[in-house]
Amino acid sequence: MKRILVTGGAGFVGSHLCERLLNEGNDIICLDNYFTGSKENVVHLLDNPFFELVRHDITEPYFAEVDEIYNMACPASPVHYQYNPIKTIKTSVMGAINTLGLAKRVKAKILQASTSEVYGDPTVHPQPESYWGNVNPIGIRSCYDEGKRCAETLFMDYHSQNDVAIKIIRIFNTYGPRMNPNDGRVVSNFIMQALKGEDITIFGDGKQTRSFQYVDDLVEGTIRMMNSDPKFLGPVNLGNPNEFTMLELAEAVIRLTNSKSKLIFMPLPQDDPKQRQPDINLAKEKLGGWKPEIELQEGLTKTITYFETKL
Ligand code: NAD
Ligand code: UDP
Repeated sequence: MKRILVTGGAGFVGSHLCERLLNEGNDIICLDNYFTGSKENVVHLLDNPFFELVRHDITEPYFAEVDEIYNMACPASPVHYQYNPIKTIKTSVMGAINTLGLAKRVKAKILQASTSEVYGDPTVHPQPESYWGNVNPIGIRSCYDEGKRCAETLFMDYHSQNDVAIKIIRIFNTYGPRMNPNDGRVVSNFIMQALKGEDITIFGDGKQTRSFQYVDDLVEGTIRMMNSDPKFLGPVNLGNPNEFTMLELAEAVIRLTNSKSKLIFMPLPQDDPKQRQPDINLAKEKLGGWKPEIELQEGLTKTITYFETKL
């Protein structure tokens, strides 16, 4: 039995990770400040004596004896990470310093949830890990993008300077049950709008693309990364390479919900990336042939079923 700390464990991805790690027989500390996560996401785990829920803000140091740390704490939706940009960058940077400090003291292995946003508005397509990115350092997305980039730097430096065992994953757009209905990201927005019969809000002309990964595929890749060859640090892309325009996504959601919602077009937010698609060859090679198994239609159907319970 491993003792595992999951920061941001009451969030969308973190709660799925906690559940899976608990079911595999581990002892879990789930740490969260409930900024975008909620107790509801993990309430079904609370009866398990090997699951411990802790209210804590990762910008402050935390002390515990653990073998592994998954550092997932950080708001991920543009609406939420732009609400308090200074707090967002503190969460990424001070959160990395605090969790890396803990990993160093207790000799734990630590995995950082980085993001495709480190590639910014990419000029290389699809994006391999070797691409350094095209990020605006002073735009409205910078608090998130640059915070995550700095966290990657800190992870690499704690490894080279202090020999901390690190792993870095770069997550591409991921969706599924337990996304907050008010999350503000495109999949939850479109599904909630379609289920309520409200207009579907397309930002810009809707021709920008994203590649959507179902949460179970991400959790599988994340755990494989933690358990991969110690010499393989990453960063490694985890995402589904199937790329869709926002118009295609809206059409799929309308079809699967039998909705009468109409599309409305709204201004494109500043620095919104035009296209995004992961190159996952490295993940396939290093993570035992890992690849996403759940395609958009199946994943959306499961997610719609979840959001129906939230109406
Ligand atoms: P989420 O907002 O649902 O989860 C983030 C969790 O972190 C929430 O429970 C929140 O309350 C918690 N948190 C935020 N600030 C904190 C702080 N200072 N101290 C303690 N807890 C804090 O988002 P998610 O989609 O589950 O994302 C999880 C991680 O994966 C994040 O680090 C995010 O950047 C990364 N990621 C997610 C995606 C995606 O598409 N879902 C893509 C790229 C990267
Ligand atoms: N988007 C949209 N309508 C919405 C929310 C988002 O058209 O109601 C667009 C957004 O402009 C972006 C894409 O959908 O081009 C994905 O946005 P999201 O916030 O989910 O994540 P991002 O990949 O931009 O971080």
